[in-house]
Amino acid sequence: MKAVYQTAIEKYEEYGKLLNPADLLVWTIDHFGIDKVVMGTGFGVPGVVLLDILKKVNKNVEVFYIDTGVLFKETYELKNQLESHYDMKFKRFSTQIPIEQQRELYGDELWNRDPNLCCNIRKVMPLKKALSSYDVWITGIRKSQTELRKDSDAIEYDERYNVTKINPLINWTHEQVWDYIEENKLPFNKLHKEGFPSLGCTHCTTSVKSGEDDRAGRWRGSGKTECGLHFNQQNGQIRIVKPGDKN
Ligand code: SF4
Repeated sequence: MKAVYQTAIEKYEEYGKLLNPADLLVWTIDHFGIDKVVMGTGFGVPGVVLLDILKKVNKNVEVFYIDTGVLFKETYELKNQLESHYDMKFKRFSTQIPIEQQRELYGDELWNRDPNLCCNIRKVMPLKKALSSYDVWITGIRKSQTELRKDSDAIEYDERYNVTKINPLINWTHEQVWDYIEENKLPFNKLHKEGFPSLGCTHCTTSVKSGEDDRAGRWRGSGKTECGLHFNQQNGQIRIVKPGDKN
């Protein structure tokens, strides 16, 4: 059993000060060491904001994305644009199972019949690999995105991946995120202006109507709201991996 310890941020006053995203990122890099910290992004608007803040704090933190092989072409275009903008390369993680092989193994259109299995193959397993050599996973999730995310915190422990999860934008609103994009003239996925506030894979993303939740177009009609990357029964606890304990 890998050792973890509870509430390393024992003093709540100190924890409160870390709620500024840049301060939290500085603390994270200082506390764990830059080699043990990684950011993941799906190239949504909060991800672009967080990337910008992270690059201002420290240019050398690695950033990865999960390539399911069925992302929107506009998402790949944004990835390339961001790489030019920040003079960087994202680390790419992907399943070893191409879509054709998935069809042979599990049948046609697995995303319609068993989206949890499809997400597990194309997202969760590659994420496990992506995080295997890191202690800290920086993410752009926000409380106001979904009902499930509202119970998340700025600092959490994720047992499945054995990482401390840092969510610097956890309390940001939709408006704050877009204000930051506009004030800093940052690139974003052009589909966001065409009715797609949240983008995943092409097979599982539809546009949303006015008044709908930002993620209402993800797995529409299936009851599924998350790909399984972010949530398990341990979420909500403030537990962090002790530096050096990962292995
Ligand atoms: S979002 Fe859809 S296509 Fe993408 S991995 Fe999940 S079920 Fe499969």
